[in-house]
Amino acid sequence: MTDSLRNEVRKRAMHCCEYCFAQEMISHDPFSAEHIIPSSKGGKDEFDNLAWSCLGCNYHKFTATTAIDLVSEEIVNLFHPRKDVWAGHFKWNEDYTQLIGLSAIGRATINRLKLNPNRLDQSKANFEDGRETSTESLIVSIFPLIQI
Ligand SMILES: [Zn+2]
Repeated sequence: MTDSLRNEVRKRAMHCCEYCFAQEMISHDPFSAEHIIPSSKGGKDEFDNLAWSCLGCNYHKFTATTAIDLVSEEIVNLFHPRKDVWAGHFKWNEDYTQLIGLSAIGRATINRLKLNPNRLDQSKANFEDGRETSTESLIVSIFPLIQI
């Protein structure tokens, strides 16, 4: 993967993890261009198959493209940053300490990527330190980019 492609992925995501919305600029860990469909399953180093991802999301997702929804007990696709609309699958609880899955995809992704409870501290800090005034502002700002 070229530096140019990696930088385009980073810019499209506005330096946020496309799964949990952690911001790269206040993270201690490196972010990377993650293969939505992993190379081992035929995914290419192409712009539309890459998502900017924090270390935690990338680590927990690994090569998975599906996970179990504990409510329906069915195996479903993980959230796909290029095809799925984030707010259609997730919402924050009132104090931004937990993500709530609104769909089987949302619940399975939260489960697989272990987004609750401790992983979200960084995302929560984004709002508390004034970088973002609300979840909605961040989602709205990134939505045009992830609705492709
Ligand atoms: Zn993340």
